[in-house]
Amino acid sequence: MSVPLLSLRHVETWYGRIQALRGISIDVLEGGITTVLGSNGAGKTTILNTVAGVLDDQPEKGTIELAGSKINGLETEKIVASGIGYVPEGRQVFAELTVMENLEVGAYLRRDRKMKDDLEWVLGTFPILRQRSSQLAGTLSGGEQQMLAIGRALMTRPRLLMMDEPSLGLSPLLVARMFEAIVQVNERGVTILLVEQNARKALEIASFGYVIEDGRVVASGTSAELQANDDVREFYLGLKNDQLMADAQRWKRKKRWR
Ligand code: ATP
Repeated sequence: MSVPLLSLRHVETWYGRIQALRGISIDVLEGGITTVLGSNGAGKTTILNTVAGVLDDQPEKGTIELAGSKINGLETEKIVASGIGYVPEGRQVFAELTVMENLEVGAYLRRDRKMKDDLEWVLGTFPILRQRSSQLAGTLSGGEQQMLAIGRALMTRPRLLMMDEPSLGLSPLLVARMFEAIVQVNERGVTILLVEQNARKALEIASFGYVIEDGRVVASGTSAELQANDDVREFYLGLKNDQLMADAQRWKRKKRWR
């Protein structure tokens, strides 16, 4: 079997005396979209922050490998340079800079001369950013800001792009566009690790998923397997609740007939 692009083994992360990750093992296969689902506080963001090396002296235990090479313990800059892009939660763009300047900032780690090619590649992926290139980022809509945040992370031409809740706070129409954009990035050859609360949408585009609760993996499988899993259906897809609502409405109608 081929080596996964990203592999976490028994990863433990602590915030002081609070243990947030309790031995997480996850594989992200090259070329696909892998999703991490779970409720608030489950540890999803902590997984991404641990991989990106932004938490001091973490992970406390375990190993993180990119294409078979250990990356835990490296500085964030080295992790980015090794091929990991990260779009943290909350559309973090520089509001006072133009769209173009935001993209150039994203490329600051590149010391080679390919920046122009990368810029073309990003603008080709998100044509809206070309249209808005001289506009201040702070004046973009929420969905456009999120695309800019993704575009900025793509400027380092990562092999793996990690995204934390890219659909958060967007209208249903923009959520659909955002998921299309993620598929588009993946089709251009970037492997995706997607953290989402919107389990339904995430499982529609992902090939494999992990469910995290209280810092542990409690379920994993192909998207089809997770969509068929009773607990996932009840707690993350809300399907049982839909059934309950439907039952309650039928009961109310029946009551009126009597
Ligand atoms: P959300 O969807 O709400 O972001 P999450 O699954 O991403 O949730 P994390 O943010 O990774 O969860 O948090 C995991 C656990 O670690 C939670 O119990 C949280 O309270 C705790 N935690 C997160 N950040 C810190 C911090 N800086 N200091 C202390 N505890 C933290």
